[in-house]
Amino acid sequence: MTNNSQYYIDLENKYGAHNYHPLPVVLTKGEGVKVWDVEGNEYYDFLSAYSAVNQGHCHPKIIDTLTKQAQTLTLTSRAFYSDKLGEFEKFACDYFGFDKLLPMNTGAEAVETAIKVCRKWAYEKKGIAENEAQLIVCENNFHGRTTTIISFSNDENARKNFGPYTAGFIKVEYDNLQALEETLKNNDKVAGFLVEPIQGEAGVYVPSSGYLAKAKALCEKYNVLFLGDEIQTGVARTGKLLALDHENVKPDILILGKALSGGAYPVSAVLTTDDIMDVIKSGQHGSTYGGNPLGVAVAMTALQVVKDENLAENAEELGTIFRAEMQKLVDQYDILTLVRGKGLLNALVINDTEDSDTAWNLCVALKENGLLAKPTHGNIIRFAPPLVITKAQLAECIDIISKTVAAFAK
Ligand SMILES: *Cc1c(COP(=O)(O)O)cnc(C)c1O
Repeated sequence: MTNNSQYYIDLENKYGAHNYHPLPVVLTKGEGVKVWDVEGNEYYDFLSAYSAVNQGHCHPKIIDTLTKQAQTLTLTSRAFYSDKLGEFEKFACDYFGFDKLLPMNTGAEAVETAIKVCRKWAYEKKGIAENEAQLIVCENNFHGRTTTIISFSNDENARKNFGPYTAGFIKVEYDNLQALEETLKNNDKVAGFLVEPIQGEAGVYVPSSGYLAKAKALCEKYNVLFLGDEIQTGVARTGKLLALDHENVKPDILILGKALSGGAYPVSAVLTTDDIMDVIKSGQHGSTYGGNPLGVAVAMTALQVVKDENLAENAEELGTIFRAEMQKLVDQYDILTLVRGKGLLNALVINDTEDSDTAWNLCVALKENGLLAKPTHGNIIRFAPPLVITKAQLAECIDIISKTVAAFAK
């Protein structure tokens, strides 16, 4: 134990795989919208663990459930029933408006689950010939890191030398209905359309208004399932419970993770109708930890907190303020190109090339001034604070960002 950041950074460098490039800050404590490093410096967290900590760090109600359940029963495996899983499944189905839920742990596992359910539905309900089903995905998607998921990524860094790749995916341009319809029209082997309502990792790309609703209508027309990956956008982040709610779209399959458990424990889930979920029979899918009593108890409380504390409404209101203030900076400073986003999922695009380190340097400067954010895709900085942030705290953060940008622009 030491309060020297470099000690911990060196440990990770020496003993850990170098699969991330973290900002040079070593955190040891979190509470609400704030985190502290080992040297005692305080920061506003504007990443929220990629939107997993929407409810704020160490939310007392979530931690209370976690500690109580941890002392009672943590894992049974699905070889036996537990008195928590069914209650969670009912709670989450009522909460999001679906018939059935399949619990997993990480986001990527839930995406894999959704793909498997969709393919099986295609063979058993839609009548596509075995092994011929295709899923349409979008250019520049991010759905996780498994071998199948990176098979349909465009990110060379995520893909290269991980092949051979899983077949059965067709890429279309995001936010392009014509491309989607062309593909659907010319291919009767399409089982599903997998889409992020806002492309988070790609740089917080918000599609044109109406895109998602029309894409859903096209899916209905061609008897294709609409799979909504709301792992990052869901659970109040964009100002509604789900980002698809902005266009009143109900996906055939909903994929959740991240904030589903408020950052306290990995819990992910796939929700759908009875008719679709019924294709999965005993022994055909599973996970040892999926649906464990500890995780699902935590998730129930995490979802309750979102309602009790009106986090969607807060994200909507504060997001509007945030973008208006950022727009003023964009108008004022040449180093900023634009701001975009919905609710409290926003991005500032830096006026520099994609391979420049300007965004990184700006994030380092923000850190020195007490605010943590991380570039995504070179010259884009994502800003996504916990949704429990207050107006006064947001004002302080806007101040930090303004001062940092001003100093940087000189
Ligand atoms: C984070 C994320 C995933 C993957 O979740 P993991 O828990 O990291 O596996 C999938 N889809 C989207 C949209 C995400 O943001």
